[in-house]
Amino acid sequence: MMIRFAIIPLLLALNFSMCKRRESAADSSQPATPSAAEAAVSPAVAPAASPPKITKTVVDQTAQTIIFCYHRLVDKIRYPGTEITPAAFEAEMKQLKDAGITVISMQDLLAWKRGDKNIPPRCAVITFDDGWKSQYEVAWPIMKKFGYPFTMFIYTEGVRGGSLGGGEAITWEQLADMRDNGVDIQAHTATHQDLREGHNIMLAAPGGKKTRTKLTGPQYEQWVQNEVVGCKQLLEQRLGIKINCFAVPFGNYNEHVKELARNAGYEAMFTVYGQPITFTSPMDSIGRYAIEANKPKVFEDAVKMIGASTSGGAPVAEVGAKDLATQPADGETVRTALPLIKANLSGIGQIEPGSVQMRVSGLGVVPATYDPKTGTVSYQVTQKLREKSCSVFVSAKSQGKKVEAHWTFGIEESPARAIPPAAHTPKK
Ligand SMILES: [Zn+2]
Repeated sequence: MMIRFAIIPLLLALNFSMCKRRESAADSSQPATPSAAEAAVSPAVAPAASPPKITKTVVDQTAQTIIFCYHRLVDKIRYPGTEITPAAFEAEMKQLKDAGITVISMQDLLAWKRGDKNIPPRCAVITFDDGWKSQYEVAWPIMKKFGYPFTMFIYTEGVRGGSLGGGEAITWEQLADMRDNGVDIQAHTATHQDLREGHNIMLAAPGGKKTRTKLTGPQYEQWVQNEVVGCKQLLEQRLGIKINCFAVPFGNYNEHVKELARNAGYEAMFTVYGQPITFTSPMDSIGRYAIEANKPKVFEDAVKMIGASTSGGAPVAEVGAKDLATQPADGETVRTALPLIKANLSGIGQIEPGSVQMRVSGLGVVPATYDPKTGTVSYQVTQKLREKSCSVFVSAKSQGKKVEAHWTFGIEESPARAIPPAAHTPKK
């Protein structure tokens, strides 16, 4: 009887700690991509004896994406800088397909950047700016025909009924229809102007009267706050969506605007300076190719750029350290400068034994041992680690592909010996 009582609280405690892990994993990894959540749970469940099953997607860091930005689709071009004919647009969509470029959603691109989801080696993301009726009426049916996902960057005053939303503007109802059918809707300010302080700004009075003025100081701050943050809130409230992308009008911004956007919870900021997006491209200046009717070469060049960019070195697939049941664990703090470092590679698949390598910060490549039976690579540090934090890189070849994992743990030696370890466990 006594034993059973002792076991129940233990089970409860175990269960509780597992729930906690699950929660924190979901929190940290955005709108719960199931793979990330599963990945975080499995190592907690798997005892050391049975190897952890890797459920986290292995991300191809050599993949590249080009992002296109379109505006209006019209039969007769009057403003070649922002218009394209439906026929030309459709031909470009077909060209992507013919070139073997996969059109992925913006959210998949961001998930790949976070390391949560893999994408094909050569991808494109299609975006439409400003919210034109023709994007709903003309572009959308073409996109449906190809089965391509896409993103709409909307400036809120430009939606029909807003101070800048005329007869050619998209309506809130059309946006809601797109949302209901899986179209990604993101922010592009309130009034579509240069966001930097000291520039001439057009202000629209409620009656529709427009004045040009230069705003500075608190007045500017109030205005830019509405452009960056207010527009996000309005889109989220009107459409019941979550906004995590911000397209900067004309690509004109600065550090202050970036900071405002970051604080507002934008995960990515977009400009119009097109370039292939790689795994390491900074998230606050993602370039897009603006496609204009009078510059068809921009599209051709973009396709060529990504077509030619297959030689980014040997492909490396990143594996989350959590999936390797590493020891010390990622983020853990150990009490010794001579730790035993271990990782279990068995979940990765067939490992070529001679290919396993471990690097330790401050030491370089170390003579680690790999046991093919258990899939464990381990190294007992023999020379005191000098830094407070230590990074480990484990790489191996699996099915001809290089796989890599890295993690960091902390070292806090002796003085705290009297304090029980629990008191020093880092907060998660
Ligand atoms: Zn725009």
